[in-house]
Amino acid sequence: MTVILGGGITGLSAAYYALENPKLGALTLLEASNRLGGWIRSQRSPNNIIFEKGPRTIRPGTPAGENTLNLIDKLELTDAIIPIKSSHPSAMNRLIYVNKKLHALPNSLGSVFKIKSPFRRPLITALWNDFRAPKLVKEDESIYSFVERRLGKDIADYLISPMICGICAGNSKKISAKFLMESFFEAEQQHGTIVKGMIKKTRSQIEKQKSLPLKSSNNSECKTSAERSVSEKWSVWSLQNGLEELPKKLMDELSSNNRVNIELNKRCDNITFKSDGVELEINGKIKKCSRVISSLPAKTLATLVKHQHPQLANELNEIPMVTVGVINFHFSQNILPMEAFGFLVPPSEQIPILGVIFDSCMFKQGPTTVLTVMMGGDWFEQYFGQNPTKEYLLSVALENLKTILNIKDDPVEVDVSILKDCIPQYIVGHSQRCNRIHDYISSHGIPLTLCGSSYEGVGINDVILSAKNAIDNLSTPRK
Ligand SMILES: Cc1cc2nc3c(=O)[nH]c(=O)nc-3n(C[C@H](O)[C@H](O)[C@H](O)COP(=O)(O)OP(=O)(O)OC[C@H]3O[C@@H](n4cnc5c(N)ncnc54)[C@H](O)[C@@H]3O)c2cc1C
Repeated sequence: MTVILGGGITGLSAAYYALENPKLGALTLLEASNRLGGWIRSQRSPNNIIFEKGPRTIRPGTPAGENTLNLIDKLELTDAIIPIKSSHPSAMNRLIYVNKKLHALPNSLGSVFKIKSPFRRPLITALWNDFRAPKLVKEDESIYSFVERRLGKDIADYLISPMICGICAGNSKKISAKFLMESFFEAEQQHGTIVKGMIKKTRSQIEKQKSLPLKSSNNSECKTSAERSVSEKWSVWSLQNGLEELPKKLMDELSSNNRVNIELNKRCDNITFKSDGVELEINGKIKKCSRVISSLPAKTLATLVKHQHPQLANELNEIPMVTVGVINFHFSQNILPMEAFGFLVPPSEQIPILGVIFDSCMFKQGPTTVLTVMMGGDWFEQYFGQNPTKEYLLSVALENLKTILNIKDDPVEVDVSILKDCIPQYIVGHSQRCNRIHDYISSHGIPLTLCGSSYEGVGINDVILSAKNAIDNLSTPRK
């Protein structure tokens, strides 16, 4: 029997993909809490407004994005998709809050030739910077240092740092360039500048495309969601009743199959690998299995394996997590200055919020405004201490929201959550650390497979693909 640890979207997807392969036998999914879905939680307010407590949009367009949309089609959730096209105001308008003002980020070819505050020069001049900056040979460095060196300080401060807050609530001065900006980072290492490297890469991609057989143009009605996302130029998408529809549908599929057994309130406290199998300690009792697929955060897994594999535990422990305060607001009327995705606050502004998402610009919920304030991340303890109350977080969020958006009204509904240790941070050296972790597991022949947000990407697409890859690798073991 194979045990999957964790019933978030990764664990559920792993169980779903495992069912496609009858050779993998019986499966048990163990979830510590009393619900499935992990950080994906779409909560209905008393006034029937959807408050997303975790993720809210998914990006199409990459192989991982295509994989998620294929999963959506297989689960027959296609009709529930709400696509946001790239021409939609929320896709076009992204704002940052600098020097006590909201600024729209350049969003057209023309705008990169103009000076747009808070940038002191047209963005196009960053390319000149890239040509002049000497090549430095490095194994890895922080995204901030890489971008500041190659493209200039303004881009590092006002474009990249807020973007990293938006992606992983992280500090661009700690996050790995080699992992998160791999193609740019490798472009410098191999070709001396980002621009040269990207031109070469684009050329070889065009050549590759030319050598592929032409796909016949489909009638729009037979298109898959992934194909529609390309032809209709989706920027992001969500689901009609919120993203939690996805784990719920996966749970329905799994529950109707007697090869998988889902157990809630089953926290794994220890894992011991023995010559004839694996022993898991669950609520004080021992459960035996032949293999473990862990979708748990690396730090949690570290505590389970450290008694037997301290070296592995040390590596897993070095992948830090950050805590995020999520405060959902519902105002009775439209109080937004403009239609936009929302705004991000560069860390250099030293304001205790990461950013605000204008949910109701993307997904209308009547004539009301629904907003989410994200707070903390890498700076959680610095701004809020170790155990702040929800009331305190709410007061800080509302005060900043009112100041920045010049709001006079009070919200009709609010909901505050503190998501403890919710997003892993891919700090400098992450790729090398992941290689060491995988090497340790394979060289010691440990029947443990890793997936989830701690290793290959924090987005929903990444973690679903990590689950698929984990199952594929088990089905066709490497020689
Ligand atoms: C605030 C926020 C906003 C986000 N926004 C987006 C977004 O807009 N788009 C996007 O693509 N991604 C977004 N993400 C990222 C995405 O939500 C996550 O990467 C994804 O949900 C992680 O899923 P997971 O199953 O790997 O982990 P989790 O959701 O953490 O699931 C792990 C599960 O394991 C269980 N567990 C823990 N310990 C044990 C144990 N010892 N034994 C058994 N079970 C255990 C937990 O209870 C949990 O259910 C966001 C994340 C957060 C926190």
